Amino acid sequence: MVATTRLEPLNAADAELFAAARLRAARSQPYLATALFAMVPVVRPGFGTFAVDRYWRVYLDMDQAREWGVAATAAVLVHEAHHLVRGHHERARRVGATGERHRDWNLAADAAINDDLVDDGLDLPDPVLPHHLGCRRGGFEEVYYRALRDPHHHRPERPRRPVVDLSDDPDDPDGDDCDADDPEPDPGCGSGSGGAALPVEIDDEPADPTEGLDDVDADAVRRAVAHDIASAHAAGGTVPPGLHRWATALLTPQVPWRTLLRSAVRRDLRATTRHTEPDWSRPDRRAASTPGVLRPGQRRLRSSVAVVIDTSASMSSPRLDAAVTELDALLHHGGVAPVPVVVCDELAARTQTVRRLSELCLSGGRGTDLRVGIAAAAALRPLPRLIVVLTDGWTPWPDTAPPRTSVLAVIIDESEHRVAPAPGGDGFRTVRVDTP
Ligand SMILES: [Zn+2]
Repeated sequence: MVATTRLEPLNAADAELFAAARLRAARSQPYLATALFAMVPVVRPGFGTFAVDRYWRVYLDMDQAREWGVAATAAVLVHEAHHLVRGHHERARRVGATGERHRDWNLAADAAINDDLVDDGLDLPDPVLPHHLGCRRGGFEEVYYRALRDPHHHRPERPRRPVVDLSDDPDDPDGDDCDADDPEPDPGCGSGSGGAALPVEIDDEPADPTEGLDDVDADAVRRAVAHDIASAHAAGGTVPPGLHRWATALLTPQVPWRTLLRSAVRRDLRATTRHTEPDWSRPDRRAASTPGVLRPGQRRLRSSVAVVIDTSASMSSPRLDAAVTELDALLHHGGVAPVPVVVCDELAARTQTVRRLSELCLSGGRGTDLRVGIAAAAALRPLPRLIVVLTDGWTPWPDTAPPRTSVLAVIIDESEHRVAPAPGGDGFRTVRVDTP
């Protein structure tokens, strides 16, 4: 049940200042204009700062804006727009930044944004920067967040957010919004930044686009902004590096791994079964036309697949489970059963034959050298034409696929930031399983 919330329009003086600041913001980062004009202003007198919610509503304390002046207000609007454009709400959810972790996420996100904005000459009031978190410049939000969650990470000084101090120290000279008794000393930038939802936020989802953006509208704005960033960059304009990286990632088409796996396996199965090989056990039907010449018949190759499983990849991984389920279905449809499976740990390879991969019972090994497992699969008779390798990717690879086989490396990517190396040799193809 979605309640309708009528938004109060801004009064004339607030509307004028907001319009001036937004225009200035759009001039400073023109590729952000679509986002700045998609944000829905909501006045919150006495709030002390600006914040955004996940529906692109921006909560404004216009008295504070008057104190900041147009230039700083424009910079804060750009900052809030970055939270929305970079999808911080969703990204926070993905790294598990909930509850008390909201604050660390908000700091990480602020540092990643402000790093770019300060470089661009924006006049932010008291910005949190990467060095305040003990982090290097030019990093991703997720990297800063992980650093802040790491108990061994050294944070050199207590970072402060614009206007509202993070500290709940009652002696804090600027602590106008927070003291030791304040249950919420750190308002943060709101749910739209991936921070905690603030008391000033409207609970209801927007009833129509004039009152806020839903996920579909928000994605459309993000894509428009990403295109504008790409065009500005291509035209030689200055685009902050973090934002350019974000736009490139958004515009690079992401093909889901299931689609890639399906097309890779089917292609190999088709290639195998399309070919024929000589069969001396049956006569050539055209032999009658060439009396005295013995010719072999032809038989179609059976699809022949072997699977190598790296036991260092934990079977409890939802991504590995998903890959096994998908591969099982593909082999079953391709008429490949039973399947020889080479289970490979650091020392040896063991072959089992199963009707379903999900029947396998694996105990996790430690390190793995998949070269042993691939060689064992290539020694099977009949020779498998396709060897599918399920692995976390942290293994040495052979220089090339074994003769007359192709190897499909299915890499179960468990880490967001460390990309396991893919095999580079002839006869290898790789599919990365990056979602469950
Ligand atoms: Zn922020």
